[in-house]
Amino acid sequence: MKLLKEKVMNEGIVLGEQVLKVDSFLNHQMDPMLMSEIGSEFVRRFAGEEITKILTIESSGIAPAIMTALELRVPMIFARKNKSLTLREDIFVEKVYSFTKRETNEITVSKKFLGANDRVLIIDDFLANGEAAFGLARIAEQAGASVVGIGIVIEKSFQPGAKLLQEAGYRVDSLVRIASLDNGTVTFVE
Ligand code: 5GP
Repeated sequence: MKLLKEKVMNEGIVLGEQVLKVDSFLNHQMDPMLMSEIGSEFVRRFAGEEITKILTIESSGIAPAIMTALELRVPMIFARKNKSLTLREDIFVEKVYSFTKRETNEITVSKKFLGANDRVLIIDDFLANGEAAFGLARIAEQAGASVVGIGIVIEKSFQPGAKLLQEAGYRVDSLVRIASLDNGTVTFVE
């Protein structure tokens, strides 16, 4: 996606060789026009698939996920990272190791919002080791729902997440794919 590539090139800040900071348009300040384009692009890429729910994880997945859901006219659910006060019987729970925070969180979704008839598109901002996406897929599967695919805004292809998810049988579609962050420079997969 050309517009997104340009944003990453012009505004992305490389932190070490593993982390890209994009807090001017995705992770802190958000660019609503770009988010809207991102939603449309996911809808184009998953055209022809029946999708009943969009599933993401708080907080940075919410913007691209809601834009996709808006265009598809379906609900969007974000998994919560904090322990909710809800009774444990009422929620699906999975453990997810956070790449950026280096800690394991429990993510939860209320059983009210996902069921066996749902066809779920998972959306997230970044894909690194695949922990968040696998956790979301396991939640959908706990509900008996089908995972139609996984849409990622920025895939770091030098980390194993995309390959592991594809090997597990999931369709992964990423809007931009980064081959390396070496020497403080973003290099895209051709
Ligand atoms: P994974 O679960 O695939 O290992 O990592 C994906 C999650 O970690 C995303 O939800 C995202 O919030 C965060 N993340 C991973 N890598 C990066 C990165 O380079 N930059 C930012 N801003 N977040 C990242």
